[in-house]
Amino acid sequence: MLQCLDAGFGNPSSLHREGRRAREFVEESREILAAVLGVKVPEIVFTSGGTEADNLALRGVMGSEKARGRHIITTAIEHPAVLATCRVLENSGCSVSYVLPDETGVVPVEAIAAEIRSDTALISVMAANNETGCLQPVRAIGALAREKGIPFHTDAVQAFGRVTGLLPTEMGCDLLSLSAHKLSGPKGVGALYVRKGMALGPMLTGGSQERELRGGTENVMGIVGFAQAVQVLNGMHVEESQRLSRLRDSLESSILTRIPGTSVNGAGAERLGNTTSIAFAGCRADLLVMALDLRGISVSAGSACASGTARPSHVIIAMGKGKEAALSSLRFSLGMGNAEGDIPAVVESLVEAVHAAREG
Ligand code: PLP
Repeated sequence: MLQCLDAGFGNPSSLHREGRRAREFVEESREILAAVLGVKVPEIVFTSGGTEADNLALRGVMGSEKARGRHIITTAIEHPAVLATCRVLENSGCSVSYVLPDETGVVPVEAIAAEIRSDTALISVMAANNETGCLQPVRAIGALAREKGIPFHTDAVQAFGRVTGLLPTEMGCDLLSLSAHKLSGPKGVGALYVRKGMALGPMLTGGSQERELRGGTENVMGIVGFAQAVQVLNGMHVEESQRLSRLRDSLESSILTRIPGTSVNGAGAERLGNTTSIAFAGCRADLLVMALDLRGISVSAGSACASGTARPSHVIIAMGKGKEAALSSLRFSLGMGNAEGDIPAVVESLVEAVHAAREG
């Protein structure tokens, strides 16, 4: 990223030398991403992040003249980037089926299959849920979508780099969303994989950047940082995932043993190794977030987008756990910056915070 700054102030759309250098930075980054994903270079469209990638996928498919119909199948546990976009599309005449997960937080393939109609134009199911970490059966859903000839989008923002075998060709998906900051890359940059031949309408109109799907001058430095993060993670993700899984398991079992009235949302399901969502009966999660923050520990209540509002998590509600569990659940995400020594401090702080919350 610093090299980008040193290289001058060129715009990748400009013909002069500085512009051409900026274009090289963007295209080299696109090549890195395409190689790691095992896709063709022009199939990568850079966006401002996961939200924009999801918007481009959904609005792009439904806005295309070639859409198969006006019906979308998605799930009730998607990120708001998908759910809120579906609501807007509903207001413009689309119909949407929101499939519920089972009590472990996993959406059954049969439930998706049951919603398929002759006018279904898109199936959109996330690869891993951002609150519970539950992995969704995206390979089976991809195969189903293929068989029925329906485009399949997956939001892989949480799963990418943390789960092996989630490559677009292996999953049979036509569209896949990514975000750099989930891979310890810079914030405000992401990408949408768009399978060659997929008909998409543009989301941002204006310039002809990103194959006219996303007009606007590219975030050159962000894109370079994104590609570097992908490359670094690609070289280490198996060991790093195993390390984080061990830390997560140790955190989870210490909490369950030390604090009565706790349960893991999504226990029993296959989950991301770095995430856990735990319900603390009788406690308000937003108050626990504040208590831990005072001790220098950053956790969240529900998804980051809903936190601060003390709204019950739509994911936990969809799992049938009830409003109380949804308001008392904390999400812990572990990353490169965490080490084994962090776990006892977090558990001790939680023991005190939960005790105070239940007493108070
Ligand atoms: N999708 C999922 C599953 C996410 O977890 C997030 C971010 O938390 C997003 C989409 C949005 O990504 P971004 O913050 O890059 O817009």
